[in-house]
Amino acid sequence: MEVAMVCIRVSLLILVLSLCSPYKFIQSPMDFGPLNLLPTTTSAASDFGRILFHSPAAVLKPQSSRDISLLLSFLSGSSLSKVTVAARGAGHSIHGQAQALDGIVVEMCSLPAEIEFYKGGDGEISYADVSGGVMWIDLLEQSLKLGLAPRSWTDYLYLTVGGTLSNAGISGQTFKHGPQISNVLQLEVVTGRGEIVTCSPSKDADLFNAVLGGLGQFGIITRARIMLQEAPQKVFCLATTVKWVRAFYDDFSTFTKDQELLVSMPDLVDYVEGFIVLNEQSLHSSSVAFPANVNFNPDFGTKNSPKIYYCIEFAVHDYQHTSTNVEQVVEVISRQMSHMVSQLYSVEVSYFDFLNRVRMEEMSLRSIGLWEVHHPWLNMFVPKTGINDFRDLLMGNISPDGFEGLILIYPLLRDKWDTNTSVVLPDSGSMDRVMYVVGILRSANPEGGCSHHCLQELLRRHRSIADTAGVRLGAKQYLAHHPTPSAWHRHFGRRWERFSERKTRFDPLRILGPGQGIFPRRD
Ligand code: FAD
Repeated sequence: MEVAMVCIRVSLLILVLSLCSPYKFIQSPMDFGPLNLLPTTTSAASDFGRILFHSPAAVLKPQSSRDISLLLSFLSGSSLSKVTVAARGAGHSIHGQAQALDGIVVEMCSLPAEIEFYKGGDGEISYADVSGGVMWIDLLEQSLKLGLAPRSWTDYLYLTVGGTLSNAGISGQTFKHGPQISNVLQLEVVTGRGEIVTCSPSKDADLFNAVLGGLGQFGIITRARIMLQEAPQKVFCLATTVKWVRAFYDDFSTFTKDQELLVSMPDLVDYVEGFIVLNEQSLHSSSVAFPANVNFNPDFGTKNSPKIYYCIEFAVHDYQHTSTNVEQVVEVISRQMSHMVSQLYSVEVSYFDFLNRVRMEEMSLRSIGLWEVHHPWLNMFVPKTGINDFRDLLMGNISPDGFEGLILIYPLLRDKWDTNTSVVLPDSGSMDRVMYVVGILRSANPEGGCSHHCLQELLRRHRSIADTAGVRLGAKQYLAHHPTPSAWHRHFGRRWERFSERKTRFDPLRILGPGQGIFPRRD
């Protein structure tokens, strides 16, 4: 044991010296004894955004929380280096958030993919204890075998538990169950000091709250206890179904009014989202997984005078309505809606296919070479009072006919979010329970003519939308990216003091999460 520790210490010392040296001598696979520390890889230097490519000096493939703890204990006890460390989940960030320029990237998917279940009896909570590098799709597959499933999701499931819990984790179920960070009972975290801490709302609550939505700044999530609910059950060997409905609108206020109506019916509705129909492409590309015969051929106007439409998407699970069938439930709901005449479509799909719907879009985009392109995405939380102005601001900054991708808009309910966590929401100036998330999920294909200059222009426009919406409407970025520490300071606003005090406590040398650019590394 002693020998192993000395071996690790010496190895880490060599690493630190090599990272600090002007003549970096890490050129070949390194033997760092029991720590699986390897030379950098191209994946560790890139992400889904394909905008930034910051190469680390080394990659750690941990086999246990202890490996991560050894690394961080050593670095936090060493005054020699300015080495930084970033946890990397599935690398689906946009702006290099999981990258560590000249530092160390910890590949969370190397941790053994452990998932252990506890099925609660009558009135008890069921949960799963999951490694931080496990992807949500794997948790779904495993939990369905026991008739269970997490309550809160993201649209895309090939993301890690640690990665989404470091942000919030939102989707069409968030209005009902809160974000994923509101559905966690306990975490195991390795802090920036290298301590392994099991924390929960009743034990080391400040670390628990700091890490949820904490952008990887306070510790690395090595294990999470995720709340589960009963999944839709199969009845007589029939696959369980979700009734998935889409309704079209030509008026924004009617669209948002109906969305707010739907989120006011959590006993009937299980999922609510929506998107802007900007052009033919956005109508068809958003329908890959929605197997209905949609007979909606609207007039999109002209380039100088475009017309746009909106689509509400909602879903009802068949298992929870025992006395009425799902058709009747959808009938009751849709009678109260004000969509365009005859423009309501519905399909039945399996519960698994519904949750995994974005995978079909991924496959379709991959098949035509449009998945691995630049993704200058911008996500914003917008107060209800500002949503009409935000729509106008957005439409003033994009041209519908040239837009490739999707613009999501859907309501969330503030009281489903815990303000003790690190997540940043718009200040609640009014008593509005509702706020919106708007996701400008844009693709920029270099092969299709959007190379460096065009990409920079899109990023500049998004920055301008984010800044204007922040100042005028009090909107806040989700999955935020800011160019300077002072811009981050403004982003956090009155929450800055708590956020930076937590950083001082849990990662005083500012080793963790360099890719976010919030705290420059301290000597
Ligand atoms: P990474 O990109 O690898 O890491 C993200 C951040 O978390 C980094 O700062 C990293 O250092 C940190 N981190 C990673 N793992 C850990 C850990 N174990 N402990 C501490 N810090 C860690 N988000 C939503 O909320 N809802 C959606 O519907 C949604 N849909 C998406 C669809 C697609 C196609 C894509 C590409 C992204 C989507 N996202 C969505 C965004 C996604 O939740 C975030 O990008 C998330 O960070 C991705 O998880 P990841 O495992 O890839 O994390």
